[in-house]
Amino acid sequence: MKIKQYITALLVSLSLLSAASLAQAAEFAGPNGGRVIEQVEPHAEFFLTPERYAQITFLNAEGEAIAPEQQTVSLIGGDRSAPVKYSFERVGDVLRSVEPLADQPRMPIVLSIKPSPEAKTVREKFYLNQHLCGGCQLEEYACICGH
Ligand SMILES: [Zn+2]
Repeated sequence: MKIKQYITALLVSLSLLSAASLAQAAEFAGPNGGRVIEQVEPHAEFFLTPERYAQITFLNAEGEAIAPEQQTVSLIGGDRSAPVKYSFERVGDVLRSVEPLADQPRMPIVLSIKPSPEAKTVREKFYLNQHLCGGCQLEEYACICGH
């Protein structure tokens, strides 16, 4: 590839990335360095463990971990043509996916959190991009700097 084409491609992908994270960047990182979901009360952190389990930690107003109450969580991962549904179980004070997530770079995620049996389900959509962000040093799916 010619240098000029390469740079153009790089710039395009960089600006796409920042546009995607800008729209969704939370103000604070979660206690594990995961993505904080602010559209649900109490807020929740989505974190991918080193073994690729999805782990949901609920947070108090100070951003500290609290035990789940009636919340239930499910997740759909993968492309629209081959989505995989993951269910969650309580492990200690977090909800964790029963199975590890598939090893797919930038896997599209739809995370559903139902705060209580009567409450409306909250859906958070994002890409599970694990590249380290140069700005905040978090993985891109949890980026808080808008880069
Ligand atoms: Zn960042």
